[in-house]
Amino acid sequence: MITWRSLARTSQYGVPKPHVRRLSLLEHHSHRLLKDFNLPVPKGYLVTTPEEAEDVVFNINAPSVIKAQILAGGRGKGTFDSDQKGGVRIVKSPREAYQSALNMLNHNLTTKQTPPSGLPVHKLYIYKAVDITHEYYLAITFDRKRSSPIILISDSGGVDIETSNRLHQLWFQLDTGITPEIDAYIQAELGFSDSEMVGIHKMLCDMVRLFREKDATLLELNPLVRTEEGFVCIDAKFEFDNSARFRQGDIFACEEGEGVEVKEVKEAEKLGLSYVKLDGNIGNIVNGAGLAMATNDLITLVGGSCANFLDVGGGATREGLVKAFRILWGDERVKGVLINIYGGIVRCDMIAESIIAAAKDIGGFKMPVVVRLQGTNAEKGLKLIEESGLENLVVEADFEKAAQLIVEHTPKFE
Ligand code: GDP
Ligand code: MG
Repeated sequence: MITWRSLARTSQYGVPKPHVRRLSLLEHHSHRLLKDFNLPVPKGYLVTTPEEAEDVVFNINAPSVIKAQILAGGRGKGTFDSDQKGGVRIVKSPREAYQSALNMLNHNLTTKQTPPSGLPVHKLYIYKAVDITHEYYLAITFDRKRSSPIILISDSGGVDIETSNRLHQLWFQLDTGITPEIDAYIQAELGFSDSEMVGIHKMLCDMVRLFREKDATLLELNPLVRTEEGFVCIDAKFEFDNSARFRQGDIFACEEGEGVEVKEVKEAEKLGLSYVKLDGNIGNIVNGAGLAMATNDLITLVGGSCANFLDVGGGATREGLVKAFRILWGDERVKGVLINIYGGIVRCDMIAESIIAAAKDIGGFKMPVVVRLQGTNAEKGLKLIEESGLENLVVEADFEKAAQLIVEHTPKFE
């Protein structure tokens, strides 16, 4: 049985740090996606200056909502470091819009989900305020324990969902989608009228389609609101599977605020390599995910901890590898490097040449490097490295000894 606490792990509320990197979208991007999938969203405008905010509200000519665009929820109850007000504001005039935008743009907003100093706000999303008669919560995500997608729905959505205990859980299958049983359950539990159910059914079907077609791991609408004219999706928090990056170019193009990690991942990807970041101080170059995991296990077993893995796969070129080594050594946490290659398709002499070229490229190794090459042309590769006279470099054919060596020689964290 899933508990609310375990569900919250994938939800907008109480999010502990995920182990898997996922893409989160800003609200305005999520709204566009919803619109693309025929889901009802308010017509919104993105602005970056108080003047634009004023103009937009002048044109809307009605009470409007101004929302800070940050990758964190709880904005309504958050606090700006400027005027101590929240990140979701209803304004009644263009003048008020200008003043609010002035206090929001380029100021920090702190919410339950941001670091204590908050996050800087550079974009605001504005739409005509919706007349809300009720706020619901609706999410689709994966229940990992049951290995099944799940719908979460509640009639007490909004900013207090955290304290709500009326959350219904409906497991479903991606190929059968929203069945009459699911509809019947939702109607009985949430008390929708028959005509409302027509709209809800369509929304659920469109949400499932979005979830499936876009490789989402979480689609959360909170609130999904009832109005006199029907249902409208107000706040949306979406997350996508990072491994789907290669086939979801349009979604990953919306990625915001590139951290160092994102840049490294993207750079490695351009070179046909994959990059995984961990918390330790030993950098690793391996080929194949299996070898990466085995290397991680072994390094941990002998008392070390890995900073990252650069998987050069089977198709790495010498040029790509030289650049890849640079990415790895550009990570300032890395105090030692283990190069662990099992040559199959990729030839060990080519890897050796790349290591030597990379060393020249960066003016020699400034930290301990242990190289283990096994498989195709391993002897040739090891000989090349030995003959190169590179400093700080040790060659070791045995896997466990290589792991021990790098752990021994890598300076520990201060
Ligand atoms: P969050 O605080 O980051 O979750 O931001 P939301 O977009 O969910 O907004 C917070 C709350 O503001 C919602 O739960 C609504 O109660 C309220 N709100 C947002 N948009 C509107 C709107 O168009 N009209 C009204 N009346 N309230 C709104
Ligand atoms: Mg919300």
